[in-house]
Amino acid sequence: MANDNGVQHPAADYEIKKARLSAQMKAGSSVRLSKETSNLFRSRVNGGEKILSARDFNRVLRVNKDEGWAEVEGMTTYEDFVNQTLKFGLMPAVVPQLKTITIGGAATGVGIESTSFRYGLVHETLIEMEILLSSGDTVVCNKYEHADLFYGFPNSYGTFGYALKLKVKLIPVKLYVKIEHARYDNSETYFQALGTACRSNFDFVDGVMFGPGEMYVTTGKFVDQSPFVSDYTYLDIYYKSIRVKKEDYLSVHNYLWRWDTDWFWCSNVFKAQKPVIRRLLGKKRLNSAFYGKIMKWDKKYRFSERFFPLFGIHEEWVIQDVDIPLDNAPKFVEFFFREIGIKPVWVCPIGSFDKSVRFPLYPLSPDKLYVNFGFWGPVRTDKEKGFYNKLVESKVSEFVGRKGLYSDSFYTEEDFWKIYNKPAYDLLKQKYDPQGKLKNLYDKCVRKL
Ligand SMILES: Cc1cc2nc3c(=O)[nH]c(=O)nc-3n(C[C@H](O)[C@H](O)[C@H](O)COP(=O)(O)OP(=O)(O)OC[C@H]3O[C@@H](n4cnc5c(N)ncnc54)[C@H](O)[C@@H]3O)c2cc1C
Repeated sequence: MANDNGVQHPAADYEIKKARLSAQMKAGSSVRLSKETSNLFRSRVNGGEKILSARDFNRVLRVNKDEGWAEVEGMTTYEDFVNQTLKFGLMPAVVPQLKTITIGGAATGVGIESTSFRYGLVHETLIEMEILLSSGDTVVCNKYEHADLFYGFPNSYGTFGYALKLKVKLIPVKLYVKIEHARYDNSETYFQALGTACRSNFDFVDGVMFGPGEMYVTTGKFVDQSPFVSDYTYLDIYYKSIRVKKEDYLSVHNYLWRWDTDWFWCSNVFKAQKPVIRRLLGKKRLNSAFYGKIMKWDKKYRFSERFFPLFGIHEEWVIQDVDIPLDNAPKFVEFFFREIGIKPVWVCPIGSFDKSVRFPLYPLSPDKLYVNFGFWGPVRTDKEKGFYNKLVESKVSEFVGRKGLYSDSFYTEEDFWKIYNKPAYDLLKQKYDPQGKLKNLYDKCVRKL
């Protein structure tokens, strides 16, 4: 991999891998993707599909520093992607916080981070994609060619095809990020401040709500020099620092991965925030990939599901990311802390980068600022299965928001298709996967087929 003047991974390598995958696709009557890592939080029923191994599509092919873009294979993790671009003083315009999220997964699964107030969701940072269709053919799509697929791919979760190569917008970085945490104790002023921060010249904006009376807006700015540099990759914990520090400095690398070490704060579930456990685990295991493996193991063997009820504890996991228009955010927060009560909550503003484009399967109003609320935790319950998740789904609709589909969904088929644009989906499905070799979005995301 090198600057655009020298391509270090010859195009031929990519073409050979593509031909192999294409042949496998042609040979299978129903297929599913296999990759090294996953951040999917809905377990799927194994339907005996042919496994299409795309694990080796994991390289950054080119970085064009002058024009600010990179060409990268679809299963490349953001950790590897960032490592390559930082060598050139650049980063992808939006870098989702978990190191193992891949560019293809984030493109189809609505990736987000603290630059999203300016650059939009990950799919807005894409310039072009090469997609493997269920026929085994590949198509290049961008705003001119196969534009319907290019704009329809976000939130399709691989149900039209798999992105094998993507051209992605990069932005320049400096050595450090200066961050400031400002505290607010009521949601009206909090969201006003969040809106103001997004209209200012910060490079990064996000926030954390520790409760209805303790909410922080965190702003970040690239700087060349720093009076000190903090490190939250081992014993110190980033989210805890927000409550005690007003100002902080991190290297760009550590800023981008500030949430990964403790999986935001979810490492607490595994007691991994206790110094003794951190030392026992060691720096190498303090990351989202490690916790994710434990969670998946737990889900697979239904350990917590069977163990806690023995002690009279009944829980429903609510793992969701929802996008609510800024104007409705205070009402959503009021509902959320009253009825769901998971704490803390991650807050990330989203704006549209190009107000002239529309993404039919994940339509956000281009003139509005949205707020992503991320909450991942158990709620004590004596209600029927899915009660709290369904409540969140209905409130998201009431407040004219959107919900990501990476974890459990409970929508009826009718409600789902009202929200996720059935007419547009059907047209694309008919055109790009007419045989239905890949799953349909409702079957995949709600029925977990
Ligand atoms: C606890 C938790 C927190 C999260 N927090 C964030 C966050 O803060 N920021 C953020 O951006 N996202 C977050 N996510 C969501 C994440 O970005 C999405 O789930 C994303 O799709 C994961 O990408 P992945 O590469 O891990 O894909 P996977 O989990 O492997 O796959 C996700 C889906 O995308 C499909 N897919 C994967 N690769 C491709 C491809 N190349 N082409 C077509 N389809 C493909 C798969 O078939 C699958 O349906 C979070 C998820 C969890 C579970």
